[in-house]
Amino acid sequence: MRLRILTLLLFATQLLLGGRASAFEWRLAKLEGRDFVPLVNLVDFYGLREFRRASAGFQMGAGLRELRGHSGSVEFYINGLKFNLSYPVREHDGELWVSRMDLSKVIEPVMRPQAIRNGGRIETVVLDAGHGGHDKGAHNAYGTEKDYTLDVVLKAKRLFENAGYRVVLTRPGDQFVPLEERVKIANRQPNALFLSVHFNSGGAGSGVETYTLAPCGVPSMMADGPRVSDWQRCPGNTRDAENMALATATHAALIHDIRPYAPEMPDRGIKRARFVVIRDITIPGVLLECGFLTNQYDARRIAAGDYRRQLAASLLMAVERYNNALKPQMSVVSNSGAVPGERRVISGPSVGAERPPAQRREGGD
Ligand SMILES: [Zn+2]
Repeated sequence: MRLRILTLLLFATQLLLGGRASAFEWRLAKLEGRDFVPLVNLVDFYGLREFRRASAGFQMGAGLRELRGHSGSVEFYINGLKFNLSYPVREHDGELWVSRMDLSKVIEPVMRPQAIRNGGRIETVVLDAGHGGHDKGAHNAYGTEKDYTLDVVLKAKRLFENAGYRVVLTRPGDQFVPLEERVKIANRQPNALFLSVHFNSGGAGSGVETYTLAPCGVPSMMADGPRVSDWQRCPGNTRDAENMALATATHAALIHDIRPYAPEMPDRGIKRARFVVIRDITIPGVLLECGFLTNQYDARRIAAGDYRRQLAASLLMAVERYNNALKPQMSVVSNSGAVPGERRVISGPSVGAERPPAQRREGGD
């Protein structure tokens, strides 16, 4: 399993799709006002060969190319890594269907990162230590979030610089820096990525999770439900595909690398949110929640220096993997020019955000 997670993005760079993307015909169904595509289409498009169902569960492909999940669930695994879809997989006409939004905004950038248009190799990494100064963040008997995040970031800074990267810190020490200022710092850097480090708190929660910006029209998983503002395009939405590729690389590195140091810490998956720092940056970015300070098991791990050292090492590994995954491949064809709104689409799955249904009447925000 660990090997499969490690090779997730790298493997996707090796897909040889030839001219398939330009000739592939997707079936579409409108279910409760939203476009869905049948899972069997994914089998053909990504060349997965096998499709198996056992009651509500399904599995496509095998070995290093496996997608699996359950009907009615948002939990979706690609090569063993957990993604939280924006809409559940659905049963319709005796088939299983996934939303076109999740296909284009989750599955496609993970399966074919080399098809993402980008500005080339990342040379600068903006490291954002959550909280600081009077804003202590979460805390427990061992320490406070603001100290832990700074410690991880300073450790990571050394590793990135040794590997030849330029590093920009949103806060070099224990000072308060407003979220808007962090965004400005990030947006001044060309050819850069943004990694925001946090630790979690609350309830009976345990484990690590990676947040990436919700695409336009997709509810935040931190909100109670859909809001009108979900339909407003954020600056960070220009990076939807890169954000998901980065989230995948980062989450895979985290999950893989911390296992020896925290074997019982669960994988909470890749999630969607509109936190200010990932919403308003114009470079690709993610926000990482690296364990719960309010959980006894997590808290002990986080307090240990080797756990935080490993988190820092994971960040470097993630950026290296991201850079490798997005290298252009000779065999990849452009899949722009999708035709949203038609019953049948002849194109790749990367389509723009859907429009809000005209009858949408959710409360304000
Ligand atoms: Zn925090």
